[in-house]
Amino acid sequence: MEDNFLSSLNDAQLRAVKYWPETPLQILAGPGSGKTKVLTSRIAHLILNHHLPPFSICAVTFTNKAANEMRERLTKLIGKERTSQLRMGTFHALCARFLRKYAHLIKLAENFTVCDAEESKKIIQALLKPYTAYFASENLDLQPGRVVSSISKAKSKEQSGSVFLEEVVRTEIAMRQRNGLPLGDEVEEKKTIDRIIGEIFVEYEKTLKRNNALDFDDLLTYGVKLFTKNDETVIWCRHILVDEFQDTNITQYKLMKALAIARCVTIVGDPDQSIYGWRSAEVGNLSKMRRDFPDTEQVFLEENYRSTAAILKASLAIISQDKSRIQKSLHTSHPNGFTPVLYQVQTEHEEAAFIAIEIKRLVAHMGGAFDWGDFVILLRFNALSRVIETALQKEGIPSRVLGGHKFFERLEVKDLLAYLQVVDNPNFIPAFKRAVNVPGRGIGEKSVAELIGRAEKSNQSPLAIVEAICDNRAPDIKPAVKRKVAPFVAVIRSLRAQAHNSSSPADLVRKLVDLIKYEEHLKKTQSDWESRWENVKELITFASEMEAQNQAEEAADAVAGGDDLIEMSTTPLRQFLQASMLSSEGDNQSEEGNKDKVTISTCHSAKGLEWPVVMIPSVDQNTFPFYRSEDTEEERRLLYVACTRAQSLLYVSRATTRMVAGETKLKELSEFISSVLNDNGLKNEMAFFSQQIPFFTQEDRATIATVLQRPPPEEAEVQRRVVTFERSGREHPMQIYWGGGHVAPSRPKNAYSTGKASY
Ligand code: ATP
Ligand code: MG
Repeated sequence: MEDNFLSSLNDAQLRAVKYWPETPLQILAGPGSGKTKVLTSRIAHLILNHHLPPFSICAVTFTNKAANEMRERLTKLIGKERTSQLRMGTFHALCARFLRKYAHLIKLAENFTVCDAEESKKIIQALLKPYTAYFASENLDLQPGRVVSSISKAKSKEQSGSVFLEEVVRTEIAMRQRNGLPLGDEVEEKKTIDRIIGEIFVEYEKTLKRNNALDFDDLLTYGVKLFTKNDETVIWCRHILVDEFQDTNITQYKLMKALAIARCVTIVGDPDQSIYGWRSAEVGNLSKMRRDFPDTEQVFLEENYRSTAAILKASLAIISQDKSRIQKSLHTSHPNGFTPVLYQVQTEHEEAAFIAIEIKRLVAHMGGAFDWGDFVILLRFNALSRVIETALQKEGIPSRVLGGHKFFERLEVKDLLAYLQVVDNPNFIPAFKRAVNVPGRGIGEKSVAELIGRAEKSNQSPLAIVEAICDNRAPDIKPAVKRKVAPFVAVIRSLRAQAHNSSSPADLVRKLVDLIKYEEHLKKTQSDWESRWENVKELITFASEMEAQNQAEEAADAVAGGDDLIEMSTTPLRQFLQASMLSSEGDNQSEEGNKDKVTISTCHSAKGLEWPVVMIPSVDQNTFPFYRSEDTEEERRLLYVACTRAQSLLYVSRATTRMVAGETKLKELSEFISSVLNDNGLKNEMAFFSQQIPFFTQEDRATIATVLQRPPPEEAEVQRRVVTFERSGREHPMQIYWGGGHVAPSRPKNAYSTGKASY
């Protein structure tokens, strides 16, 4: 069985898996060429044929979802036990795990709370408040998102708040001197946006510190600190492998280097798919690696196994418009398949209706070739999903939003986690604020602020303050306040006692739900309490799953052993909270129950994944490239990434008008598509996009099945149906041809034809 998995690889892939087991290796190749498959196979090969212990292998993926997929694939190749011993996950998860274990080595309190992106943003929002009047008087505008991203960028360069601020002030002074402007008090009074960002950054750092919290960027920077200064913490690592390397940032590169203590590094990547420049990713890491590891070997893979030739050609036509790009070869032995469709309509509602109806048509009348789960709608940004979701709902199509569902951001989940966070880290104020008045105990915002103010003044946690009140150690507090906070304190104490006994996190959640009568609270306060109650149950399931996984990881650590370092004992509760916070990156939903739904996702979240049918709406200027983006080429690559997710059918569409913030705006076709349509060099080769609705012959449908490696579809008869769609509030009838073409009396010019409307 051992070498079976190697037999499905082509020569280049096989070389990438087998050659150079101890040499730094870069596997560079286009989408769908099997990079992730090779990485997985290489791990299996190192374990099965080179007998590396699984715990000595570190595999880094870009998302939790990708890590789960890799885990699934590896379980098939090397079995569950060995897979569970691998150190596998995102850079964030890896850092969190080791920081928890060795917090004391870098003077970190081991009960730190991981502060997710939403929480960070809330802190920033609060810090922005005092500037409101100043912004109004100076006619300035500063959105929290901009502050978040500036801070994150600075942190990825390992800049602290004070260094950032000093640099801004220095630049401002130099500019004033150059322009002969006065210095001194006036500089202090007139604050630029950058200076305000700097000031907020400094305060933000203080807030995190006070709360004993680390944000996502901190996890990485502290990780670098831990790994570079304490060799003993990385000694277990014999081989590190990184997927999607083109999107790593400077800090992640440093982490990789620190972990590559044995100098065995394998990275896979594709510069054409680098889409995270806006989040400080550095394509330059590829050449940096070759400088740091001069003996690096390179393998190029050139065969695409994912898509039909027509999809690949159209995608390559898009990316090759970037003239500065190094041209690479990528081919497929798949059949040509159907020409990608470019569909243009008048309004975004028609566009959404088209997408919904087309999906329905493909599912109902393609001889069983497709299920709902075979479709993905890829959006440039989340806000575009509203109209699409409504259209799908109207047609009765089940859908789910990938990464947008954000289980861990739901009210009920956050309520319960907040209680547990208070138990684990009483200094984490956001959790205290949330839990203290759930269910309603009549403790108003003002009282909460007072309690927190008291805590800050006396340098204690707010929990310590309310405990003192309950124990009559705060005589100046009114008895009414004591009555109100007493039940909260009782719940926390009871949970704390149970957590001390190392009780399982699932049991803790169950107990909490009982103690605060949470089901009744939901019934009283939420109209959709039933589905929320389901989420509570799901949280308990997640808690028990995490416990099992953590036990496996701990067992692996015990096997790894070898180092004489003192490890902090992590409580099951702490591990559970950490897993929840890291999952809030948004992509760790269970796949069960989603397999039969149409997926709606952003293009960014779809990275590395594939679907039989991909639909990309809104390919207009302003959306592709996104008007706020500073890097047009990165936007082009993003469209390329989106198109190359498709295996058998690709649709791009756009509306000529679109409502933006309540106003109807005219929209042009995306330059990324029009440049392909107008490129004389490409024109003679073939039409990359068809502007008609596909009419599938039996042969087309057989091709689709071949590419998807599915059994040939049944034959289907053509039927003509009339469906209605809405435009300007009026219903319009539309005739649609469903089904395969071989029995059609004559092939219609356009499978969609309407009486009045201009389809
Ligand atoms: P991306 O750049 O989008 O992340 P990738 O290079 O990582 O793509 P994979 O996801 O590993 O590509 O592979 C794409 C598809 O091709 C998968 O379905 C994979 O199983 C299949 N595949 C890869 N190599 C082979 C092969 N040698 N034979 C058959 N199928 C293959
Ligand atoms: Mg991949």
